[in-house]
Amino acid sequence: MPSFDVVIIGAGPGGYVAAIRSAQLGLKTALIERENALGGTCLRVGCIPSKALLNSSHHYAFAKHEAAAHGVLLDKVGLDLGTMLKRKDKTVGQLTGGVAFLMKKNKVTTFFGHGVIEKAGQVSVRKADGSIESLEAKHIILATGSVPIDLPFAKPDGKVIVTSTEALSFEKVPENFVVIGAGAIGLELGSVWARLGAQVDVVEFLPRIVAGFDADISAALQKSLQAEGMRFHLDTKVKEIRVTGSRAHVVATGKDGQELSFVADRVLVAVGRKPSHGGAAPEALGLAVDEKGRVKVDHHFRTNVPGVYAIGDLIAGPMLAHKAEEDGVACAELIAGKAGHVNYDLVPSIVYTHPEAASVGLGEDAAKAAGRAVKTGKFLYRANGRALASDSADGFVKIIADAKTDRLLGAQIISPAASELIAEVVSVMEFHGSAEDLARTVHGHPTLSEATKEAALAVDGRAIHA
Ligand code: FAD
Ligand code: NAD
Repeated sequence: MPSFDVVIIGAGPGGYVAAIRSAQLGLKTALIERENALGGTCLRVGCIPSKALLNSSHHYAFAKHEAAAHGVLLDKVGLDLGTMLKRKDKTVGQLTGGVAFLMKKNKVTTFFGHGVIEKAGQVSVRKADGSIESLEAKHIILATGSVPIDLPFAKPDGKVIVTSTEALSFEKVPENFVVIGAGAIGLELGSVWARLGAQVDVVEFLPRIVAGFDADISAALQKSLQAEGMRFHLDTKVKEIRVTGSRAHVVATGKDGQELSFVADRVLVAVGRKPSHGGAAPEALGLAVDEKGRVKVDHHFRTNVPGVYAIGDLIAGPMLAHKAEEDGVACAELIAGKAGHVNYDLVPSIVYTHPEAASVGLGEDAAKAAGRAVKTGKFLYRANGRALASDSADGFVKIIADAKTDRLLGAQIISPAASELIAEVVSVMEFHGSAEDLARTVHGHPTLSEATKEAALAVDGRAIHA
C-alpha cells in the first residue's frame, strides 16, 4: 500500500494549496479529487468562470451603452454567447491545468477518484473504472468544500430551476430570470445575465441586499444594479415554484403580505451553500459536526478523529476561496510542526458586480450595534479625479476607526476597483495601523486609492478634496 505523510481529499483552493505547502515542507503528499480536473468549486464552477463572464458581459454592456459617450462609435454591437462561454471555459482550463502543473512541479501524487477515509491512517480511492486503491496516511486533511443549499419546495432540475453551476453555462440568454437570494452568487450571476439582456428579478427575504455589508453599501449597490436593469423584491419570501414545460411560476409573499408572482424561463436558487464531506467520512468514523453541519476543528484544524484534519468551506468561517487557501497553508504548517496561523478577523469580503463592494474587519453598523465607540470617515468617488476620468464616480470609501485609539477597525468600499483597493486596508490592519497611518501614506495621483487616504483623513474631519 503506498504510504504518505499527508493525504488530502478534495482539490479546491483549500486542498491543493495545502498539498503544495505540505510538499514544500518536505512531507510526502497525495491529493485526491473526484472530478476530472483540479481546482475545486472555485476554479471549475465558482470564482473563475463567474469572473470571466462578469468581465465579458461588462465589455458587452460598455460597448452597447457607454462607448459612444467616449467617442467610440461601434456600428452594431452584437452578442456571440457561444464565444463568450468558450472563452470562460478556456480560462477555467488554463487554471485547472495550471494546478495540475503545480502538483507535478511540487511532486504531489494526484489520484482521481472518490476519496473515503476507511479508518484513521487509511484512505481509499474509488476510481471511475471501479478499481479501488488504498493509501496509508499519517495525516489526512478533509478539504471537500460545500454544496448549494436547496429550497425544500424547489429542487434544482438543472434546466429551469438551476444552481450557480448551470447559470454559468446557459446556452441562450434567458428572457425572464428570477434569482432567489441577493448574496454574492445571486448578484454576480444576476448582473451577468441582466447585462446580456435578461429581465432579472431578484427575490430576497431580508430587507436589503448583501446584508453582510453596511446598509449604505447595500443601498448604493442596489441603486447601481437597478440602473443596470435588475429589479429587486426585498422582504419577500418565495413559497412555491411550479414548473410547466420550460417555464417556472414563482409565487412569493411580499413585504405587506401581498402575493407576488413571476413567470421565468430560468430560476437560480442562490440562498447559500452548506458544508459537505462528499461521502469521504462514513458514519462509522464518527466525525463530529456542529449544528450547521460544519466539521468541528480545534485551533490546529484537528477533528475529533485522531490524524484527521479539516479546512476550507467544510469548517466554520466565511465560505471564501482565500480563507480556504489560508486554512490550507496553516494546516500544512501545523502538521509539519511549524506555527501556522490565520487571522480570521481580516478576511476581506468582495462582491464582483459593477461597481464592486468590498469590506474587511468591523463594519460601522456592526460596531454601533455592539455599542463600540468608533469614528468613521467617508469619501465619495465623485470628488476623485481618476474616478471622474474613468467613469468610476459612483461609490465611496468608508474607514472605521476606534474612537479613542484611532486604530483601524475596518473599511467598506464600493467602487469598480474595490476588490483591489481593499488590500491596502487589510495590510495596514494586519500591522495594527491607525487611520492616521493610512492618512499619512503617500498615494499616487491620480488614483482611485487616493479616496482611501481621503476617507482616512475624513476620520479626523480633514479630507482635502471633500
Ligand atoms: P471546494 O473548492 O468546494 O473544493 C472541494 C473539492 O473536493 C471539490 O473539487 C470536490 O469535487 C472535491 N471532493 C468532495 N468530496 C470528495 C471526495 N469524497 N473525494 C474526492 N474529492 C472530493 N469565493 C471567493 O473567495 N471569491 C469568489 O469570487 C467566489 N466566487 C464564487 C462563485 C460561485 C458561483 C461559487 C459557487 C462560489 C464562489 N466562491 C468564491 C466560493 C469558493 O468557491 C469556495 O469558498 C471555495 O471553493 C472553497 O474551497 P474548498 O477548497 O474548501 O472547497
Ligand atoms: P449568501 O449567503 O451570500 O447569500 C444568500 C442570500 O439568500 C442571503 O441574502 C439570504 O438572506 C438569501 N436567502 C436565503 N434564503 C432565502 C429564501 N428562502 N428566499 C429568499 N432569499 C433567501 O449565499 P450565496 O450567494 O448563495 O453564496 C454562497 C457562498 O459562496 C457564500 O458563502 C459566498 O461567500 C460564496 N461566494 C462568494 C463570492 C465572492 O466572494 N464574490 C461569490 C460567490 C459565492
